[in-house]
Amino acid sequence: MIYDVAIIGAGPAGLSAGLYAARAKLSTVIVEKMYPGGQAAITYRIENYPGFAEGIAGAELTDGIKNQAEKFGAEFLNGDVEKIEKLDDRFIVSMKGEKLEVKTVILATGAEPRKVGVNGEKEFTGRGVSYCATCDGAFYTDKPIAMVGGGDTAIEEALYLTRFASSIHVIHRRDELRATKILQERAFDNDKIKFIWDSVLHEIKGKDTVEEVVVKNVKTGEMSSVSVNGVFVAIGYTPNTDFVKDLIRLDEQGYIVTDDHMKTDVPGLFAAGDIRKKSLRQVVTAVADGAIAAVEAGRFIEEQ
Ligand code: NAP
Repeated sequence: MIYDVAIIGAGPAGLSAGLYAARAKLSTVIVEKMYPGGQAAITYRIENYPGFAEGIAGAELTDGIKNQAEKFGAEFLNGDVEKIEKLDDRFIVSMKGEKLEVKTVILATGAEPRKVGVNGEKEFTGRGVSYCATCDGAFYTDKPIAMVGGGDTAIEEALYLTRFASSIHVIHRRDELRATKILQERAFDNDKIKFIWDSVLHEIKGKDTVEEVVVKNVKTGEMSSVSVNGVFVAIGYTPNTDFVKDLIRLDEQGYIVTDDHMKTDVPGLFAAGDIRKKSLRQVVTAVADGAIAAVEAGRFIEEQ
């Protein structure tokens, strides 16, 4: 069978693309290597998705889109896509032990948390170092922890972690946060959150689990130690585009360059969501991208 559309990645962009493609009667398969929902599914509460004045749990929102896509006939396949090849009139999507033949592809593999790259980070990942507050916050009940980063994710997660941890040391490389004002105000008002300004993480130390972090002041060069049992890292994301880097145009940071129709420079290959070069990476823009990509994939098939 040749599918009309293969969507790679089942985060909000991929799920929304699946919903729109399947509802337009295109035969649609969504390939996901982990679980449906992507980064949004592990977000405790999404406060800025329109229509939910009280906020909505990320998993509830993404489950809803998944069910909607399934209702219209989208198929789901568990697999890790290693390669995509373009033939004259179709694409071959290769996973371990399986190949799909498809007329169009929508790339929606999103981005993954960036690593700090210091000693101890790799060694203690899963034993004190985490990239997901919602997943691991409860392990740090009544314990001191550190949060690295000053963007929306770092501050939102620091605020979430105040329900568990005894204190949260936010380590930020400047003396001003990047996070939106409303989150900044909430963080400054919270007694559990303390800031270590103008500083970067230098090393993570411990025996079996994390016991302390060494922090370097970037202005004075001074090193200091803080006793913590956990380190959360939220310093941005790296796009998951390695498997297509030889096929399509990427920007200098590795994001896929598309036009307003979600078209990449390869005809029939589209991209949607956080994987794309864009100015606002949010669930609301991801689902919009997915819808546009699916409609454009349908148009492309009609024109062929
Ligand atoms: P981000 O906005 O790129 O912020 C990354 C933070 O980490 C910045 O404060 C940055 O410092 C710092 N940083 C980057 N590289 C670093 C390094 N090597 N060492 C130390 N610090 C480093 O990433 P994000 O917070 O994950 O947010 C990603 C996107 O999702 C943004 O567009 C954000 O608005 C959005 N988001 C929105 C919400 C919401 O609306 N509620 C929630 C979460 C995320 P500098 O400030 O000095 O660059």
